Amino acid sequence: MPQTNPSLQIAIIGAGFSGMMTAVQLMRKATSPLTLYLINDKYEFGKGPAYSTTHPKHILNVPAAKMTAYPDQPNHFLDWAHRQEAYRDMDKEVLGKVFLPRRDFGRYLSEVWAEALAGKRDDTTVHTISDKAVDITTAVGQNNIELASGQTIAADYVILATGNEPPRNLPVSDLGLYDDPNYIGDPWNNKAAENLDPDRDILIIGNGLTMVDIVIGIMDTDFRGVIHTLSPDGLAILPHRYGYITYGRLAEEIKAPYKLNELYSLINKHIKTFKKSGLSPEPVIDSLRPLTQKIWQGLSLEDKQRFMKYLMPHWNKIRHRMPGHMYDYLMQQQIAGRMIIHRGRLLNMTQTAHGLSAEILETNTDTPIKLEVSRIINCIGPNTYVSQSLNPLLQKLVSKGMLQADPLRIGMQVTDHWTLVGADSQEIPSLYTIGGNLRGLLWETTAVPELRGQAEKLAGEILSKAAKV
Ligand SMILES: Cc1cc2nc3c(=O)[nH]c(=O)nc-3n(C[C@H](O)[C@H](O)[C@H](O)COP(=O)(O)OP(=O)(O)OC[C@H]3O[C@@H](n4cnc5c(N)ncnc54)[C@H](O)[C@@H]3O)c2cc1C
Repeated sequence: MPQTNPSLQIAIIGAGFSGMMTAVQLMRKATSPLTLYLINDKYEFGKGPAYSTTHPKHILNVPAAKMTAYPDQPNHFLDWAHRQEAYRDMDKEVLGKVFLPRRDFGRYLSEVWAEALAGKRDDTTVHTISDKAVDITTAVGQNNIELASGQTIAADYVILATGNEPPRNLPVSDLGLYDDPNYIGDPWNNKAAENLDPDRDILIIGNGLTMVDIVIGIMDTDFRGVIHTLSPDGLAILPHRYGYITYGRLAEEIKAPYKLNELYSLINKHIKTFKKSGLSPEPVIDSLRPLTQKIWQGLSLEDKQRFMKYLMPHWNKIRHRMPGHMYDYLMQQQIAGRMIIHRGRLLNMTQTAHGLSAEILETNTDTPIKLEVSRIINCIGPNTYVSQSLNPLLQKLVSKGMLQADPLRIGMQVTDHWTLVGADSQEIPSLYTIGGNLRGLLWETTAVPELRGQAEKLAGEILSKAAKV
């Protein structure tokens, strides 16, 4: 009897960009029989909360030229976009600088997936499963993934590509508020503008890019009230201003070993020189992007903690910017009195006979104010502390000691090659993760420019490990 080569079984939990692209890279790199299971519970396959939106004004925050899904084909997305009827007549260089609608990127990802399936080897089998993974049991040589439906999937390797988790709930005196249909705890569930009273004010907590999406979505309806927003820094997002300026001198001067106070002085020196040209420091900080992960990994834990405590708000403000026309749009809403941006913090939220009430303390004031609103939307950003995850799978893994938060509580505790480290400090060699879950290790690991490289690296890592077994 001829010997058949047993198929390597890899299960990926979560099919957003990271999970789907890891599967694509596994298909591209496989040289022997492979069976892939992609388990995804929410959002359209491959798109996650970011690219499932159908709203034409929800746009990418990275220009088209930088959004390729493949690290080895830098123009792959731009070429795709230029083939589309809507952009065919545009100059390609100009198109590359445009922030396109995220739904276009979602369509692109569907085509990337279809092409990968069409080009896969005959001995690669792919199963896409719409279900929620709720538990993983690891035994020597095999992992069993339990799904909410009761089905079990067996795999040699498992990748947690669970991505962006909805924000943590805000502290309130009455927990019943979380069940109120007008408290929107998950801003990506498309319910923020649903059945909204058009004449009553609303409150958005958090002032980041998700807030911008929500404002745009609501202002596009017949809403006539005022949108209040609240965050400790007010509107802390800057517009993209200098898309064409590059700066190389800082990167040339940065040398290991990395110490936060030395880096801080060096960066400030460059910012001062830069400012002499009348420019603000975004290009200086952007120039660090290729080095950020390396620098982060070289810092001591104390330096990382100091960075998060003192510098993170400034860093985030400069790094996570929005396209200029969207910034102007928000300013226009403010001028028109349609939007009020509060700087301060939330003290409490309560249900009232007429809706919801939020008690807030504005910065530099002593007396709290009350906002009576019809809806409150939580946009404080994804929950990153796995010990308080609302994801049943992560809760289960934490409770079993298979998963723990990294010391900074911004991701999972992992090895340098992205396998999980359990509560007993032991590596779980068949359990990998990718994407935002690596934040503690890599710091910047959120956007497509980082994730596409991770997908390729992880696929290569697992295939070469499996080949040695
Ligand atoms: C609103 C928004 C806009 C963004 N815009 C941009 C942008 O313009 N450009 C850019 O580069 N980046 C952007 N980002 C960053 C974005 O996070 C990444 O680009 C990328 O989409 C992240 O993909 P991911 O697969 O890691 O996570 P996700 O997209 O969050 O996907 C994770 C998937 O795993 C599923 N899942 C989780 N747990 C389970 C489970 N137990 N069982 C089964 N399935 C599970 C989830 O339902 C989800 O479908 C944006 C993010 C958001 C939230």
